Amino acid sequence: MRTIVIGGGIAGATAALALRLDGHDVTIYEAYEDPTGDVGGHLSLAVNGLRGLERLGCLREVQAAGYDIERMRFHSEGGRLLGDVPRLRRQRDSLRSVTIMRGRLVAILRRAALDAGAHIVTGERLVGMLEAPVGVTAEFASGRRDTTELLVGADGIHSTVRGLLDPSAPRAEYAGLYGVAGISTIQAAETGIWNLTFGRNGVFVYSTVDERTAWWAAQIADPVPPQLRGIDEAEWRRRLPGLFQEAVPSAVLAATNEVLAATHMHVCNPIRTWHSERVILIGDAAHPVGVGQGASMSIEDALVIAAAVRTAPTITAALEAYDAERRPRIARLLRHADNARNGKKPGPVKRYLDAAKMRLLLPFYERAQAYLYDYEPTVSAARTSG
Ligand SMILES: Cc1cc2nc3c(=O)[nH]c(=O)nc-3n(C[C@H](O)[C@H](O)[C@H](O)COP(=O)(O)OP(=O)(O)OC[C@H]3O[C@@H](n4cnc5c(N)ncnc54)[C@H](O)[C@@H]3O)c2cc1C
Repeated sequence: MRTIVIGGGIAGATAALALRLDGHDVTIYEAYEDPTGDVGGHLSLAVNGLRGLERLGCLREVQAAGYDIERMRFHSEGGRLLGDVPRLRRQRDSLRSVTIMRGRLVAILRRAALDAGAHIVTGERLVGMLEAPVGVTAEFASGRRDTTELLVGADGIHSTVRGLLDPSAPRAEYAGLYGVAGISTIQAAETGIWNLTFGRNGVFVYSTVDERTAWWAAQIADPVPPQLRGIDEAEWRRRLPGLFQEAVPSAVLAATNEVLAATHMHVCNPIRTWHSERVILIGDAAHPVGVGQGASMSIEDALVIAAAVRTAPTITAALEAYDAERRPRIARLLRHADNARNGKKPGPVKRYLDAAKMRLLLPFYERAQAYLYDYEPTVSAARTSG
């Protein structure tokens, strides 16, 4: 079957790989050139996403390009330890969460898709789509057109495919937070720890990837989207000390070697329409779930869409099976994520109550998160390529 994937990010590259491994003729159209090096800051993969990569034969390469993070520690603004839990896994999981530069992950996934025989066309931005009973034609800003049997919309949180599929679909909006990430040189007594501080201005995390290096990321509350484009390294260095006054975040920020990425954070209301007869949304285009699970959910989506196409009698039946399989899981995740995505800057009373709530709830954290890590799709995605 001929398939076009719009977007060569995590969801698009993984879907192209999964579909190609089943023998389909797959072309990715990506608006930008290939990512190289450590662009876009880092992200963490949970064990459910890692198991998906294992099925696709990419796990070892991803593990080698990133760092295992064993535990996650929560701290109050005063530095008090609020909790210490396994990071993005259950205690009993033998796999460890992997933290990796986004650009490296995407490069590995695109390489794997290419090696499997997929085509990748960069510098082509989808602007239109015409669906007919026999096929769907993608239209690009360059004037190029391409007709396919199945079109997978993996074009991210600001998805064009989503709006073409349903013009009334919700659009992503500024969440009241912006993010900055960087790399610092520190002396770490322990490696493989993800430290999170609930600061006055927002959340600060740093992970000790080795004895001398911390990768950090900050989410800073700001009701008005600040101008982030065009701020150079020197200007960021001037701004960093003002971001957090708390002892640990400010020490890590002061030791910054490199500022990697700054981005506005977005939220989007749940998206009702995920598919038509020949077009399907996956990844952030379908369900922007945000930090912590967005990449892993994209990998799960990719496996499920391939499995649905493999097992259903028609393309439309496959897209319906994908929707039925993925929607309850995403709805559950979004319910849990609502609090975490609340971008408002909490006052001192709310911060105190949040810390107290966290201490009370952390003993139940692992059980509450188990459904995320133990996932096995009912649309069988079984493939064991190593
Ligand atoms: C600051 C931050 C930190 C995060 N940290 C984590 C984390 O630790 N763990 C985690 O699991 N998730 C994390 N996430 C979420 C995660 O990054 C996303 O869920 C994931 O990247 C979604 O992948 P995607 O492929 O659907 O979308 P994207 O990664 O956005 O990829 C979409 C691709 O489509 C292309 N594209 C867009 N429009 C078009 C078009 N019209 N035509 C052609 N191509 C197009 C884009 O150029 C892009 O390459 C984080 C998100 C942010 C913002």
